[in-house]
Order: sequence, then structure tokens, then C-alpha cells
Amino acid sequence: MTFDNVIEGHSWDDITRQIAEKTPEEVREALSPGMMDSGGTDIDRFISLVSPAADEALEEIAQRAQLITEQRFGRIVGLYAPMYLSNSCTNSCLYCSFNASNQIDRETLSVEQAVSEARHLHDEGFRHILLVSGEDLKAVNLNYLKEVVSSLRPLFDSISIEIYPMETDQYRELAQSGVDGLIIYQETYNKDLYAQVHEAGKKTDYRWRIETPERGGAAGFRRIGLGSLLGLDDWRTEAVYLAMHARHLMRKYWRSQVTISFPRLRPAVGGYEPPCPVSDRDLVHMLTALRVFLPDAGILLSTRESKEFRDNMIPLGVTSMSAGSCTQVGGYTGNSATAGQFEIADHRTPEEVAETIKNIGYEPVWKDWDAAFIR
Ligand code: SF4
Repeated sequence: MTFDNVIEGHSWDDITRQIAEKTPEEVREALSPGMMDSGGTDIDRFISLVSPAADEALEEIAQRAQLITEQRFGRIVGLYAPMYLSNSCTNSCLYCSFNASNQIDRETLSVEQAVSEARHLHDEGFRHILLVSGEDLKAVNLNYLKEVVSSLRPLFDSISIEIYPMETDQYRELAQSGVDGLIIYQETYNKDLYAQVHEAGKKTDYRWRIETPERGGAAGFRRIGLGSLLGLDDWRTEAVYLAMHARHLMRKYWRSQVTISFPRLRPAVGGYEPPCPVSDRDLVHMLTALRVFLPDAGILLSTRESKEFRDNMIPLGVTSMSAGSCTQVGGYTGNSATAGQFEIADHRTPEEVAETIKNIGYEPVWKDWDAAFIR
């Protein structure tokens, strides 16, 4: 049974109503020691944790999140960097600069240019890289990806991809080339809204997209990353679907670590305005509630967020951060004048981010995985 089958039994409006009806008593029950000790993973408990009734318990949820994170992960923060291979895209997502309808210069790195960009990141200390691209099979096909990955393997201990959805066999080939992580955001779990914001291209297929993490799990990726694009719809309802999705994958692909990202919409070419802006407090609530509900999930925070916000979130659940990011193709080596995918908010260098992590009392980790572990 795929996650799309699972959510057939849940309507968006019904979950939104359940969230609104939660009471402070139900929140207290969800936070009770008995529930914590039993590792209660009943989704009804999570609905209580993200409800408006839980707003007043945010301090307590945050303290629980901090305790759980330290118990499970210690005081470490993994560092990674995204690297854009191509901004060419055949989809039309209203919120993205790379939308096929936007008049921007399109560029795809050659394998040699990709190695040069990656070497720059390697020299900055990174050993975990995230390869990003739009969805254009003519620009970024499987053979190209395999060639890039094979060329980068000597430089990086962990290579993740955030590209378009693929078939399981294609993911298997990438895993054999050296990819160990897959990130794929559903953007919104609301099917009606999904249809509105994805106007053209293969990405209009909700089912193809939502079943992608399962194809990644079947292909054996060690990390599978999920996320909702925050600002598109009500964050509380998105959080409930995200929690259900993560729990489904954790049970089905228990060998893989599930990670969750919290991409808040940022200014991009096209000027899309978020219909449901998510405040800092909302984001703290969502992130810490997910940490309490899913103690073993990796939690990622990108440079979409300001340095102040990122620094404050480190103790509350974050396990990995991007640093020194550039969202332009070829941006690290200064060979690009193309538009970035979105504006970043934390402009510190990787070294500055690592220094701050140390000052907060945590350890920045450039490498937390080596394929040799499973050989
Ligand atoms: S979000 Fe991805 S698929 Fe959509 S336009 Fe941007 S790059 Fe293309």
C-alpha cells in the first residue's frame, strides 16, 4: 500500500476540522509522560500537538523537542551544501524562478563544470553535497547524472539528490553510482491546491510525485527527505500529512533514515505571493511538534531562514543545515549570471556557520556517513 492509498481515507477538510476541534485537555494528554514513554505514534496525538489549542504549550513542546534531540542525536549539526546542476525545467510551478514560463537564462553544467563547482565546496570543508536540478530530461538525463556522481564520489562521502522523480530502476542505478540520499518535496499535500500551483508538465501528476519517496526507499537510498513548501496552505494540516507520510516511510523502509525539511516560500522570479504565510512562531511550533512525534527523524534547516532564526533552532531539533549556499547554476565558482531558484536569507560563509555552531555548544560535522559503513 502506498502513501497515496493511505491518504485516500483522509480528507484535507476533515483533518483541518479535527485540528481546530482539539482542546487543551487533549494537548495535555498528548504531552503526558505515559504517552511520551510509550513512544505514542498515534496520529491523533500529533493532531493535538499542532492544534491551536497547543499554542499555549509551545514552550513545553520546545523543551521536549530539545531533550529528545539531545538524547537521540547528541549535540551535533551536520553541514551540507546544495549544488545546482541545471535550472532548465519543463514544469510550471507558480512559486519557482525556474518555472518554464519565466524568461530567465537557462544553463546546465557540463560534467567538468560540475566537478569544478564541487571542488570549491570540497575545499570549503563539505563532505556531504546535495545535487539539485529542474525537471528537463534533455538537460539532465540519467547518464549525465551517473557521470556527475561518479566524478564527485572521490570528493564526497555522501551525495544526495533533489531532482525530478524517477522510476525505481533509475534510482537503483544512481544508488550504484554513489547516491545515498533522495530529497523530494510534495510541496502541498492538498490535492486541489496542488493542481492549482502546478500548471504544466509532469509535476502535475500528484500520485507520481507522492509515491516517489517509496520508489527511493525500494531502490535502497539510505536517506529519504520529505517536506511541504510552507506558505502554500495551512501549515498545521500540511504538518499532519507530513507526519503521516514520514511515519509510513519509516515503517515501510526501516533501513532508511527519513528526514524532514521546512522550506518556507522565499521571493522568486514571477513574484508569487504566499497565500498562507508561516510566521517564525508557527515554524517553531511545526518543527518542534514533529521532533516530539518523530524522535528519530533527521531535521534539516536551509539558508532560506535567517541566521538568527537558524541559530535559535539548533538546540530545538535541527540535525543538519546547509551553509554558504548558492541557488544559481555555477554560482560557487562565479561563472553564472542566471537567476537563483529563490533568495537565500543566511549569507554567512560555511566557516562562519561552523564557528557559530561551536559557540552555541554544538559540534559542526562535515561528514556523518561513509559508504564503507555498509560494505
Ligand atoms: S519547483 Fe522544480 S519542477 Fe517546479 S519549476 Fe521549479 S525546478 Fe521546475
